[in-house]
Amino acid sequence: MIKRKLLKIIGMSITSAIFFPCSFIFAATKKILNQDLTSEQKNIMLNEGTERPFSSQLNKEKREGFYHCANCGAKLFASKSKFDSGTGWPSFSEALPGAFKTKVDYSFGMARTEYHCSNCGVHHGHVFNDGPKKDGKRFCNNGLCLIFKPEN
Ligand SMILES: [Zn+2]
Repeated sequence: MIKRKLLKIIGMSITSAIFFPCSFIFAATKKILNQDLTSEQKNIMLNEGTERPFSSQLNKEKREGFYHCANCGAKLFASKSKFDSGTGWPSFSEALPGAFKTKVDYSFGMARTEYHCSNCGVHHGHVFNDGPKKDGKRFCNNGLCLIFKPEN
């Protein structure tokens, strides 16, 4: 049993070694387009940081409309896919088609699926398979990466 565990750890390390150079190449493709972003927003978007839970005003946002990328303005989520996950971050059961690209992130010793804006490449959050709908997706998004535009 211990040997199997060890093999698993070695396997993970090899996978990480293969994936890390890719993440460096990927990092070069992120572009800051909105010069008004704060240093906290830039840290999340470029370094895959995470805002404090329950810190975003968007947690309470319930109006009809769309959520856009705070960097490039791309339309990412419709308000109808938003739900209260109780995690403290704005959460969505689905993204608009083609809004995001994903990669596997091995930080904190676990494999998580990171997602980033298809248009400008900046980090937005992680997607999990424990969402409320049939396909089970839960997009856990940093509120600082989003701009909400209500529908008139
Ligand atoms: Zn973007």
